[in-house]
Amino acid sequence: MRVLKFGGTSVGSAERMKALVQLINDGVPKIVVLSAMSGTTNNLVEIADALYAREHNKAKKLIDALENKYKDVVKQLYTTDSATQKGQELIDSHFTYLRSFTMDLFTINEERAILAQGELLSTALFHYYLTEIGVDSVLFPALNFMRINENEEPDLKYIETYIKPELAKYPGKKLFITQGYICRNAFGEIDNLKRGGSDYTATIIGATIQSDEIQIWTDIDGMHNNDPRIVDKTYPIAELSFDEAAELAYFGAKILHPTCILPAQTRNIPVRLLNTMQPHAKGTVITSKVSGDSIKAVAAKDGITAIKIKSGRMLLAYGFLRSVFEIFERYKTPIDMITTSEVAVSLTIDNTKHLDAVRKELQEFCSVEVDTDQTIVCIVGDFSANKQGYALRIFEALKSIPIRMISYGGSENNISILVDTKLKKDTLLALNKGLF
Ligand code: ADP
Ligand code: ASP
Ligand code: MG
Repeated sequence: MRVLKFGGTSVGSAERMKALVQLINDGVPKIVVLSAMSGTTNNLVEIADALYAREHNKAKKLIDALENKYKDVVKQLYTTDSATQKGQELIDSHFTYLRSFTMDLFTINEERAILAQGELLSTALFHYYLTEIGVDSVLFPALNFMRINENEEPDLKYIETYIKPELAKYPGKKLFITQGYICRNAFGEIDNLKRGGSDYTATIIGATIQSDEIQIWTDIDGMHNNDPRIVDKTYPIAELSFDEAAELAYFGAKILHPTCILPAQTRNIPVRLLNTMQPHAKGTVITSKVSGDSIKAVAAKDGITAIKIKSGRMLLAYGFLRSVFEIFERYKTPIDMITTSEVAVSLTIDNTKHLDAVRKELQEFCSVEVDTDQTIVCIVGDFSANKQGYALRIFEALKSIPIRMISYGGSENNISILVDTKLKKDTLLALNKGLF
């Protein structure tokens, strides 16, 4: 069984949904994971924000506007009266549900239930379309098997146990349409895998059913060597290793959810990135194979906070770093980059929820400086210790950029630098010019 995931643009209009059929209707058994139609999750976030702020009129207007969009989709997608009616009833029920929240107390649970509507709508609309044109498929509810644990990580054991009997309920069926992004949490409540999470759904399903390949279909022909939203004339990379792809995804290459590579890597399942607008383009294949000894790509992650910790106690002492790390651990705040000298440590975080508390505890034994609005720029390639010349090429390219931190040698395929976010574009352009 193969897993194919189609992102928001790939299901972004009635026309795009119709075009998907030729990519999935070849008789090969598959699970098709769909995102919400493009823009929908952003709209649902706006609706939830308005409800949090108790701006019920604003929420109502946003809900009306979104409903009108879906009414148009129904008109354009179906030709028969019965399918049109089913589509309309579907939309009525989801939007009545959305409107029901304007009356009650609004908490994170209601917000998550709202965010789940996009994928529920797109998958049902598409399934009705397949039925209308005579393509047999199953609408396969992700909420029956996708689950995260108390640490908000996918509960692979649970998913593996529950997905198989769910599939077995439909003997002889070959085409399963399921929702990306949405899941239940350890308490059984509706939750999600964070923004961009449909990629994660696909790799988790692929890993738990031991798919022969996981395909991520999107609006670009694979992982590019630089951020195409910022730099002109980027190009697709034909092959990446799991480690390289994971670094690029984690450090900002939006084409992949930050942690979606891990499930595929653990079970050694190839991940192929493909373009729905150009289905014959080669795209990128991600496998365990490490190929070439070049600099492959760069990516950038914004919203980073740098913390510089300085203490005379660090000099010739041991145990200092442990006391620093324990504070971050206690506040469940992951550290991304770290550099040390004999008397100071600089590190970066992207989750600032507990920053004040962390800072207060650190200040009990050292001085602390915090810089916000920083960007990590990550350069990915094969930087094994026996290779020479890469650092020179990178820093030659960056000679006019002020750099706040450098991390080299932590992994064999990543060199990271930290710059002020104002310099992100210049940094990506400079690297493009100097490296590719
Ligand atoms: P989907 O809705 O299909 O999940 P996304 O918008 O999440 O699509 O991801 C695809 C987008 O990622 C591309 O349109 C592109 O602008 C952006 N992107 C950012 N960095 C890269 C990169 N290095 N390679 C390819 N695409 C990238
Ligand atoms: N619809 C969700 C989002 O926009 C999940 C996804 O598209 O991957 O983040
Ligand atoms: Mg995405």
